Amino acid sequence: MNDTATWNEAAETATESAADAAEAQKKHKIEREDRKLEKRLCREVGRAIADYNMIEEGDRVMVCLSGGKDSYGLLDILLKLQKRAPVNFELIAVNLDQKQPGFPDHILPEYLKQLGVKFHIETQDTYSIVKKVIPEGKTMCSLCSRLRRGILYRVAKELGCTKIALGHHRDDILQTFFLNMFFGAKLKGMPAKLVSDNGEFMVIRPLAYVPEKDLIRWAQVREFPIIPCTLCGSQENLQRKQIGNMLREWEKKFPGRVESMLGALQNVVPSHLMDRQLHPFETLRTTGIADENGDMVFDEEELPLPAALPTEQIISLTPAR
Ligand code: SF4
Repeated sequence: MNDTATWNEAAETATESAADAAEAQKKHKIEREDRKLEKRLCREVGRAIADYNMIEEGDRVMVCLSGGKDSYGLLDILLKLQKRAPVNFELIAVNLDQKQPGFPDHILPEYLKQLGVKFHIETQDTYSIVKKVIPEGKTMCSLCSRLRRGILYRVAKELGCTKIALGHHRDDILQTFFLNMFFGAKLKGMPAKLVSDNGEFMVIRPLAYVPEKDLIRWAQVREFPIIPCTLCGSQENLQRKQIGNMLREWEKKFPGRVESMLGALQNVVPSHLMDRQLHPFETLRTTGIADENGDMVFDEEELPLPAALPTEQIISLTPAR
């Protein structure tokens, strides 16, 4: 073999090992990011559970599993937390098979068996009922979800569950808040914890602090066997979709805005809104006593603004007259 051939071989081997090293480095970085994501998910779910006292000693929690990324993520993180939680509680995964055309009914039982978690699959053909009652082209969601709710309450009772856990995340909560404000003239979101409308169950949303993008990534990391949510043939809620896009755009332009809005939902000042049911405006009297937390009528409120603020975000908090 001549010198040129040997040098060529050496160059090729060197290139290959450099490429292998770069590939290994990339893989290592992704694994590190995924470990950070897992920690973040556990931390945020744990924080929401603690903040709202969602799960207590002896609870039997029914985790509603639809086959979408959010409910898989919810069950997955709750199972992780269950091992280290300061209280003992049980988890039961429940799926309602509504007999939508093409629903792959083997996927969830197989997944749950392999996970070793207690589960129950409830089969009720609500799809046919909804199709029969709702005229073609009209939205089916309202009746469908009413039927689903009733069935899930019954199942929760039969299984002796004390809590019902749903997979709504931070972005669902904010979208609902804006939907209610824009189309329902109400300041009303989706609470992290509430008593069910039949008064019998505590409904909890342990993913309340979790951004949707983290659940999308976690579903890829864990390779959840996702079941498509379009099987019923119903149109996506366009208004919700638009609001979702609006929030994503805002977040892209002004990072941190979505988190700040979630913070606002936890920090309400009724005296500075206009709901006469929440604050006794009609009977309000001066006290003659200075209150440092009182209203500053003429001054602008000082807000902690980020250091490098885009000019369009610098706004006066006192409206121009
Ligand atoms: S999207 Fe389909 S399954 Fe979901 S609530 Fe609407 S009709 Fe029911």
